[in-house]
Amino acid sequence: MSLSDKDRIFTNLYGFQSAGLKAAQARGDWDDTKALLAKGQDAIIEDVKASGLRGRGGAGFPTGMKWSFMPKESKDGRPSFLVINADESEPGSCKDREIMRHDPHKLIEGALVAGFAMRARAAYIYIRGEYIREAEALQAAIDEAYDAGLIGKNACGSGYDYDVFLHRGAGAYICGEETALIESLEGKKGQPRLKPPFPAGAGLYGCPTTVNNVESIAVVPTILRRGPAWFDGFGREKNSGTKLFQISGHVEKPCVVEEEMSIPFRELIERHCGGIRGGWDNLLAVIPGGSSVPLVPAEQIMDAPMDFDGLKELGSGLGTAAVIVMDKSTDIVRAISRISYFYKHESCGQCTPCREGTGWMWRVMKRLETGDADIDEIDMLHTVTKQVEGHTICALGDAAAWPIQGLIRHFRPELERRIAERANTLQEAAE
Ligand code: NAD
Ligand code: SF4
Repeated sequence: MSLSDKDRIFTNLYGFQSAGLKAAQARGDWDDTKALLAKGQDAIIEDVKASGLRGRGGAGFPTGMKWSFMPKESKDGRPSFLVINADESEPGSCKDREIMRHDPHKLIEGALVAGFAMRARAAYIYIRGEYIREAEALQAAIDEAYDAGLIGKNACGSGYDYDVFLHRGAGAYICGEETALIESLEGKKGQPRLKPPFPAGAGLYGCPTTVNNVESIAVVPTILRRGPAWFDGFGREKNSGTKLFQISGHVEKPCVVEEEMSIPFRELIERHCGGIRGGWDNLLAVIPGGSSVPLVPAEQIMDAPMDFDGLKELGSGLGTAAVIVMDKSTDIVRAISRISYFYKHESCGQCTPCREGTGWMWRVMKRLETGDADIDEIDMLHTVTKQVEGHTICALGDAAAWPIQGLIRHFRPELERRIAERANTLQEAAE
């Protein structure tokens, strides 16, 4: 069960060819886009629903269903907008970067088709500030598309007027959260809003808005051209399609690769990464979906299907499919402690459980790293993660809690060992 080259959507992922318009057209992008639009808005949304595409930004919400929340007619003359989340900041995630660098026209064409389906007036692409080369590549593609009449007035000769704007962020992780992103686009401090209302009801400038990840939008034109059944034919029920996996850490060859959803972990690593550094016996644990999801120990991940439901069954998640591989040389407590620091640093501070809890959890994690803690603090830390999880405005609180929960679930003996060892050392010093 693995993808052949002819089934790959991203045929220039590694930049072997030009990212420019001519080369993109030779690869099939912008091929009679007018005919795609002529299918009509509702038919496009139905096709995306039938394809089984689930959001590729981490949450896995069904894309076609999300689009169907957008109004069919403008209320009070309010326009609708598509916002594309290119603020890829989840530690371990680097797939959208490759799309924007090497295949930007897939994203621009997708922006037109998706925006048209949702009756949007324009697309705003919000790109993380650190992605300087990617912003340049994307702006060059937008300019080319305008010059060729593919977007702008009468886009692709369809009679539909559609603009695409690129907006650079300023380096805050929280601006990848869709409502903080919208606040930031509006020129305000990037802090999440309470949901509901969801953006489809009140989004950018209070107008109906859908926020989609880069990959979710970039795959749409190919899905429409090849048909929803083609896309749905990969993976398994409710976990369909092809997917960009980003594999980092202790593998022989880290890479970003498009594969079939649900590919078993071992096959993914053997086929594309040359195996685990030091062999399979050297594998300790894997964070399969970016830093927000709990780790999975080696023995559980080996044959796991790499998809939303398979990883959920293991108490983790597919997230952005940023697969972080850790071998036995890893100080696993230190690794999770470092992740805790990240969330403490990136908390926007507007809700108390997150603002106070992330700092509190990190400080305990720092002490657990050296064993400088009481044994009952392990359970206390777990209790605090449960107080943070589900009690905050946005998912950052959950993201700070889950990695620690995973550590305690799977590596409690290691935490206890460190505490006992430290206590012995202190006792010996005192004698
Ligand atoms: P979410 O589940 O709250 O929402 C997912 C999407 O579905 C949102 O667009 C939301 O508006 C929509 N939605 C959900 N319920 C809805 C409803 N009832 N009506 C209308 N729309 C609805 O998740 P989220 O907070 O948007 O995202 C969390 C995920 O983001 C995490 O799983 C994490 O993996 C991921 N993440 C990704 C990155 C990255 O760099 N790509 C960074 C941080 C986090
Ligand atoms: Fe801000 Fe954290 Fe609350 Fe999210 S959970 S709104 S990041 S304080």
